[in-house]
Amino acid sequence: MFTELPEEFKNRMRLQLGAGYSAFAQSFEQPPVRAFSLNTAAISVEHFEECAAVRSELRYERIPGMSHSYYYDPELHIGRCSCHHAGMIYSQDPAAMLVVEGLSLPKNARVLDLCAAPGGKSVQLAQKLADTGGMLISNEPDKSRNSILCSNIERMGFKNVAVTCMYPDELAKIYPAYFDAILVDAPCSGEGMFRKYPESVEQWSIANINNCAIRQKDILSSAVSMLKPGGKLVYSTCTYAPEEDEEIADHICDILGLESADAPEIVTGYAVAVPLNSGTAYRFYPHISKGEGQFMAYFRKPGELSENVFSDNLRSAGNKKKADRECIRLMEETFNGLPDIDTERIFKYGDVLYFIDRRIERLPEKNVTKAGVCIGSMEKKRFIPHHDFFSAFGGSIKNRLELSPESSELSAYLHGEELRLSQVQNGIYSGYDKGFGAVTVLGVPVGGFKLAGGRIKNHYPKGLRNL
Ligand code: SAM
Repeated sequence: MFTELPEEFKNRMRLQLGAGYSAFAQSFEQPPVRAFSLNTAAISVEHFEECAAVRSELRYERIPGMSHSYYYDPELHIGRCSCHHAGMIYSQDPAAMLVVEGLSLPKNARVLDLCAAPGGKSVQLAQKLADTGGMLISNEPDKSRNSILCSNIERMGFKNVAVTCMYPDELAKIYPAYFDAILVDAPCSGEGMFRKYPESVEQWSIANINNCAIRQKDILSSAVSMLKPGGKLVYSTCTYAPEEDEEIADHICDILGLESADAPEIVTGYAVAVPLNSGTAYRFYPHISKGEGQFMAYFRKPGELSENVFSDNLRSAGNKKKADRECIRLMEETFNGLPDIDTERIFKYGDVLYFIDRRIERLPEKNVTKAGVCIGSMEKKRFIPHHDFFSAFGGSIKNRLELSPESSELSAYLHGEELRLSQVQNGIYSGYDKGFGAVTVLGVPVGGFKLAGGRIKNHYPKGLRNL
């Protein structure tokens, strides 16, 4: 076995699994399974699967029953692949994907992911919402984890997401009965991650399980207050501890007043049913399906769900004011014309400009770490685009350099090198002979550059480059 599991944990699992325990114990001898989901807001399944260079780079295999998720070779450093840099894919445990995979959301939904970092489930939710015209508030109270969340959301190029860094009780003051759906993927004792992160075994104790359960109840009472009547709540953990799983699910119905709801079909196909006082929850075990441990339960707040109507007449968003004409003019000049962006939704805060989608109509005054898309900043009467801008709008600006996924030029760009336009052989340049532009791969933006005198100056952020 990879590491010694605590005796008390083993005894609890023997009790939970009965005859299944030995298969469960053996699963710790196997390496964790690796998987990714496709960002369908950036690229279609057909276009992605058609590309032979991507197929050979990722060596992927479709996960049965999932529309756009794949297992991949665990030897692969997926973070270095061009599709990863372009935000086409998000690496995630296959059991964790299940939680929101089959979740249906109403049109124009407002959704909250309350415990969101590093962001796998937010990415899935934002994609669903891109299809159905909704918005996501992705929240994470831990500052360093919040910055990882922001960078993942940025990489995917979403326009319909804002990120906040708040504790649930603070957030609840701003959004009473506001959301159509809330995901609470709660901080937990993490037993389901022992195989993937053996070092986490050392934190295990019954006292920690009990503390986690207290915190989960706290988080959930704020979550329920932010849910609209008729809204959906999804509760999940990556632990097997009943105190944090079925007992909390019972608390949600018996004390917080929600009704148990049916799980999506894909969940019932992969996970084991766990009976609740009323209704059923589901648990995913590594000896039964490919993936780590995960618990999930679905609820509904009693009442009729009202439809959201988004207003076009917003003057401000949080503490940000609408950008003036001069900013828009400078932006137009920078890009040789405006990208496909609603300028009415460009807001200014200090010298920084943000695109805030009309669906993001309410933001806290403080602790917003990503207010929609940060498009750039004004520096000495010049507009300097931000990387976030290229991820979200790079596909619709005039200057574009499309590079093929396996090309040496793309690899050089991802290393932070400068390119020479005249020497690019595995790519197509379109646009003017100067100004800011975006590198794209399969039509999906990766990052920015500035073209001057035939030199393509690299604007891919240093922290994101392949070393
Ligand atoms: N949903 C994430 C994903 O799919 O990538 C994983 C979430 S992880 C299981 C739980 C998160 O809750 C952690 O990032 C943790 O920092 C955060 N957290 C800790 N305390 C919290 C609290 N009181 N309220 C909300 N989130 C909290």
